[in-house]
Amino acid sequence: MMHDSGSASAEDRRTLIEEIQQLKSERNAVVLAHYYQRGEIQDVADDIGDSFKLAQEAARTSADVIVLAGVMFMAETAKILSPGKTVLIPDAKAGCPLADSAPVQSFASYREQHPEHLALTYINSSTEVKAFSDIICTSSVARKILAAIPKDQPVLFSPDENLGRYIGEELDRDMLLWKGNCLVHMRFSPEKLSEMRSQHPDAKVAAHPECERAILDQADFIGSTSAILKYSQDNPARKFIIVTEPGIIHQMKLADPTKEYLPAPSRGWASENLCRNMKKNTLEKLHDSLLHLQPEIYVDEQLAEAARTPIQRMLDIGAASGDEHIDIIRSIELPFQRSKIERQLAIA
Ligand code: SF4
Repeated sequence: MMHDSGSASAEDRRTLIEEIQQLKSERNAVVLAHYYQRGEIQDVADDIGDSFKLAQEAARTSADVIVLAGVMFMAETAKILSPGKTVLIPDAKAGCPLADSAPVQSFASYREQHPEHLALTYINSSTEVKAFSDIICTSSVARKILAAIPKDQPVLFSPDENLGRYIGEELDRDMLLWKGNCLVHMRFSPEKLSEMRSQHPDAKVAAHPECERAILDQADFIGSTSAILKYSQDNPARKFIIVTEPGIIHQMKLADPTKEYLPAPSRGWASENLCRNMKKNTLEKLHDSLLHLQPEIYVDEQLAEAARTPIQRMLDIGAASGDEHIDIIRSIELPFQRSKIERQLAIA
């Protein structure tokens, strides 16, 4: 059958979804979707989550094929954690400008200038930058990981400046911050948000820490996508202003359709708060990736091995209780030696 999203009838759409389910079963495949994906992709996914949950699921799935419906760094993380599996992404052009804001050579030079700093790096980064980092974090575990690092250990946080500043202030930690931003979260308008709050005084404001301070100062709640979703379910308020990519509202409506969820206003036109990269994946491309097992993700094995250690530290600290994290932090070798990592990657 022809798959054309623009003209697909409801019948075509039903057939497409049936074929996706059939292909998943034939391929022994799972679809892992980020909360910012189109609702129709979330609806056919086996698991939906934030970057941390997607990484956990990728590491533990017994499926032969993983379709990572998200952006490239998420698909590469899945491949690093499950190197023996076929990992697909519906659209190989789904990148992340935040990850692109930290080119590996600049990052390695920056680390060389601060060799005693531990590099805590947001998962929204390239595989190469991960390989040059000490611990990876997501917004859901960033605070826990920073709290686990001894207070006298200097830290370099990359690449999202807003997230780094937010958790640093929360924990009273002075960190060196890479000057990167998520353009989607930077487009929310503090002035228009303030107006919206006046128009909806009964609404609670839930914001992602990738937003700038003038937004976070107006928030009743600040957290990762999964934390914002939970807040909207647990809080007795009936109305919420959501200051993150509005794809998350799909799960909020499914969880409680009786509440009202208002996407926060952007500086310009309304669609500015959509992540265009996340939205590159469509149901049709998801179908075709399962059919042809393309586009497939490949990560050089040496590079994957170097990047796996800091990602695994994140998963281990995320799951740790009590003092278990101490040995994980102690295993990090400082000062930073660029040549050692370059030798490991055979790029010296
Ligand atoms: S929302 Fe921002 S950080 Fe997330 S994938 Fe899109 S550009 Fe990257």
